[in-house]
Amino acid sequence: MIQLQNISKEYKSKKGVVKAVDGINLSVKRGQIHGVIGYSGAGKSTLIRCVNLLERPTAGRVLIDNVDITTLPLHELRQTRQKIGMIFQHFNLLKTATVYNNIAVPLKLLGYNDAEVKSRVAKYAEIVGLTEKLDSYPNQLSGGQKQRVAIARALAQEPEILLSDEATSALDPETTEAILALLLKINRELGITILLITHEMNVIQKICDEVSVLESGKVVEFGTAIELFAKP
Ligand code: ADP
Ligand code: ADP
Repeated sequence: MIQLQNISKEYKSKKGVVKAVDGINLSVKRGQIHGVIGYSGAGKSTLIRCVNLLERPTAGRVLIDNVDITTLPLHELRQTRQKIGMIFQHFNLLKTATVYNNIAVPLKLLGYNDAEVKSRVAKYAEIVGLTEKLDSYPNQLSGGQKQRVAIARALAQEPEILLSDEATSALDPETTEAILALLLKINRELGITILLITHEMNVIQKICDEVSVLESGKVVEFGTAIELFAKP
């Protein structure tokens, strides 16, 4: 479903060239939750942003459903990106829009008609448990509720893949548990493949099927979560 083939990403700065991602090969099978774990600066964020080409890799290929998206013309890339939803550590909500509109605006931009927009907002608000909060603004919500809005917004595009960039890192342990349970439900019940990055071992332990460990831009270990935790 997702294949990263020999992906590298270099940033040029005054101090020289930083190789944030250095020749990574990684595949995520359909229906799996794949976790990438590593310390700060390991290249996790750069790597996950290469999957939907928020960052253009300096080298390598990104295959989504066996299509190399690094060579697609823009209009085809846009279509592929609709298969890929994304959530972030700091939620990235529109502060001046209600929960309803935070979920609805991207759908409107994609050209869905009002009836379709309404029905999708209702459906995904219900799935994330926010039906009662549709008229609230982000500053009236807890951190966990804000992340639920972001998840509903991503799901409303009905993606096949969800990318999660440290989605629980800004949340307390209890709220983290609840969001992880929601991600697991989304994976198991909606069949959405999830690629997540984290620096927290408990996130991997609780929900991931497979794990890649990242260090200095390279995958240094890969295995099922069970294999990895069985190691001494
Ligand atoms: P992580 O998500 O694991 O913390 P990042 O992907 O954010 O790692 O960063 C990996 C390396 O790339 C770090 O050394 C970081 O300083 C560098 N880096 C990330 N983004 C940029 C950028 N836009 N410009 C220059 N260097 C960057
Ligand atoms: P716009 O974004 O065009 O300014 P509105 O915010 O008024 O428009 O809402 C657009 C549409 O979404 C309207 O048809 C409105 O009835 C509907 N809508 C807005 N909030 C809700 C809600 N909480 N529940 C159901 N429908 C809503």
